[in-house]
Amino acid sequence: MLRELSRRDIIAGTLGLALSRKRVRERQDSRPVGWAILGIGSYAQNQILPSFAACRNAKLVGLISGTPAKLESFGEKYDIPKGKRYSYRQMEAIKDDPDIEVVYVITPPATHPEFSIRAAEANKHVCCEKPMAPTAEDCRRMIAACRSAGKLMQIGYRSHYEAHNLRAIEMCRNGELGEIRSFRSDHGFNIGRGQWRTKRALAGGGSMMDIGIYALQALRYLSGEEPIEVSAKITNPPNDDRFVDCEDDVQFTLKLPSGIACSGGSGYSWTPGKSRFEVVGEKGVLLGEPATPYGGHRLSLNGVPLPIAANNQFAAQIDHFSDRIRTGGQVRTPGEEGLRDIRIIEAIYDSAASGKPVKL
Ligand code: NAD
Repeated sequence: MLRELSRRDIIAGTLGLALSRKRVRERQDSRPVGWAILGIGSYAQNQILPSFAACRNAKLVGLISGTPAKLESFGEKYDIPKGKRYSYRQMEAIKDDPDIEVVYVITPPATHPEFSIRAAEANKHVCCEKPMAPTAEDCRRMIAACRSAGKLMQIGYRSHYEAHNLRAIEMCRNGELGEIRSFRSDHGFNIGRGQWRTKRALAGGGSMMDIGIYALQALRYLSGEEPIEVSAKITNPPNDDRFVDCEDDVQFTLKLPSGIACSGGSGYSWTPGKSRFEVVGEKGVLLGEPATPYGGHRLSLNGVPLPIAANNQFAAQIDHFSDRIRTGGQVRTPGEEGLRDIRIIEAIYDSAASGKPVKL
């Protein structure tokens, strides 16, 4: 009897232990993913931090900044306990903070490699803003750091999570435009003086790195093709001190495997600015304009606006990465996607410098 009872007890106890371990895992799995924002500048303050309120599967749990006053004020605003406000110098301490699962790097591009690698080495998943890094070699180091830590990486290409851009991709793929004849995208604005964006050492380049990358992205996600060759020309206005260290106007052509015409433009002295793509198909012209703003997207076919419900692209991007962390599967815009763009931008710079097409 005693033996019988104790055997039953043991079985029940083991089962109970296994079940409670499983429940803990399930509870952990159903928790929203904890994010820390690294770099509390304009994009973080105005777009990303407020978007956590709209997230389904992500929670803002930490802040990392080089400015104590920002840690204090945004820590208070978003209810982040003092113990979860880290300076850049102390950020390695996040390793011992299990609530922080992802670090979202939102600083100037030249700082992305160092911050992303430090976050991966602290055993955190990494979301990094565009452009991923100044060079393809930097991108490879960042991907390798995440891989060797067993962590996922996402690049903040929000348009991949935005309803109008997603509908445009669908229309290009499913034959609604008939045979496609050409892709074109232009992105640019008139930049102010003295920003890090005009300093190569911080920005990694000029308009192409910062805003032209939206044109390059649109051409790649609309066509669904990878260019095999690029040709480019850069024009800087004379006597404009904004362009002593970085490029202004870039006109580029991508040679696609299909042979479909594909070209783009990027600029830092454009008034008014441009945010547009145009796809010409045998059944009509699909126009996105503005194509990649923070809000107020418009997509039209042959001049007729398409009724598309707006979504919160920032929250959708954050939720997507959080879902992948919880459930696995491919990240839609992984580090490799950032690397592809930087390789093409390097080829654009090489082509503009040599005056010759550059093969990829
Ligand atoms: P910002 O100048 O407003 O903010 C940059 C932040 O980085 C500041 O808090 C600054 O203190 C911090 N920082 C850390 N190290 C720095 C250094 N060495 N030099 C200067 N600042 C440093 O810039 P932003 O507009 O917020 O852009 C930040 C990043 O976000 C960039 O990579 C940019 O391309 C990207 N961004 C993306 C989008 C988008 O739509 N996906 C929009 C804007 C900016």
